[in-house]
Amino acid sequence: MSSLKPNPWLKKLDVYEGGRSKAPGAARVIKLSSNESALGTSPRVLTAYRDAATTLHRYPDATSWDLKEAIGAAHGLDPARIVCGLGSDEILKLACRAYAGPDTEVIYSRYGFMMYPIAARSVGATPVEAADVNYSADVKAILDAVTARTRIVFLANPNNPTGTYLPRHEIERLAGGLPPHVLLVLDAAYAEYVDSDDYVAGHELVASFPNVLVTRTFSKIYGIAALRLGWGYGSTEVTETLERLRDPFNVPAPTQAAGIAAVRDQEWVARARNYNAIWRQQMTDAVSDLGLTVVPSAANFILIRFPERDGVTAEAANAFLTKNGVLLRWLPKQGLGDCLRMTIGLEEENREALRLLKAFLESTGR
Ligand SMILES: *Cc1c(COP(=O)(O)O)cnc(C)c1O
Repeated sequence: MSSLKPNPWLKKLDVYEGGRSKAPGAARVIKLSSNESALGTSPRVLTAYRDAATTLHRYPDATSWDLKEAIGAAHGLDPARIVCGLGSDEILKLACRAYAGPDTEVIYSRYGFMMYPIAARSVGATPVEAADVNYSADVKAILDAVTARTRIVFLANPNNPTGTYLPRHEIERLAGGLPPHVLLVLDAAYAEYVDSDDYVAGHELVASFPNVLVTRTFSKIYGIAALRLGWGYGSTEVTETLERLRDPFNVPAPTQAAGIAAVRDQEWVARARNYNAIWRQQMTDAVSDLGLTVVPSAANFILIRFPERDGVTAEAANAFLTKNGVLLRWLPKQGLGDCLRMTIGLEEENREALRLLKAFLESTGR
């Protein structure tokens, strides 16, 4: 052992585990474990990405300015208040580096996105879990958890892995109830998939709440998870702080080019949204018909609950599906050992997952 002294809080830092992509022994793999887009990447985006390959010897635009303008135009937002990151994960971590640290607390909801405690711990802050209600975030529990040490509240809306969302009035209640020194990060990674009228990603809150930061990603509906692109929108105060902290050339040039093409191709987004809405409903109904419980989802995945008796457990179902090449997400470390999260895939992928779930239940004698 050397006498190096890593920061003591790093001992408690869990490594983020992504969805599995391999099923040893299976003839083919159906990957429904990471909420990637069923429809994949738009052809226009692929063209833009390939074109960017001719200038790989050049550094990227350090400000990602054209990308910010394209995002701003698509969403009706001021590009000067957009900060781009290597995935929205980078924005979440920048927020922690900027506003949290040792002797501070970072709040998130029970069954909230796994990155929040990791990002909090990476800077020495203490993650604080607020109770949920029925797999949904509870504004009162979050507000009750606030102390003088609280610096950030993270809320994924819709939430991963539960798929539940809070409507506009609840988000307003949360923003209005937080002390102004607490940064509220509204992580809207799945915003494009929501079709309820009472949903807002939260951009319009920024005008009245300088302590609100909304984060978005290109990893889900835009179908470019491999390129690692996300962004945040907040008050000038917040975005300028994050801009100062980020690496100078954080977003690679091909990623910027692909992002610009992606955000301009709203036809592709609409297709993916419509496709998802149909299959999210079909899978919810079909899995419920098998006698399993599905948490109502606003996103591109469903959370399936198992009774956990007579052999009908999430763990056994996960093993059965994996052996047959279908990868879902089992999340025992998040306290969801009785659940499997399934990303909505292509029709034949969804049907195969269903067929195997049914076969699994039959194998247990149900
Ligand atoms: C997938 C996901 C993200 C996106 O992360 P990227 O770093 O942009 O790929 C962010 N938040 C939640 C809740 C997610 O599920």
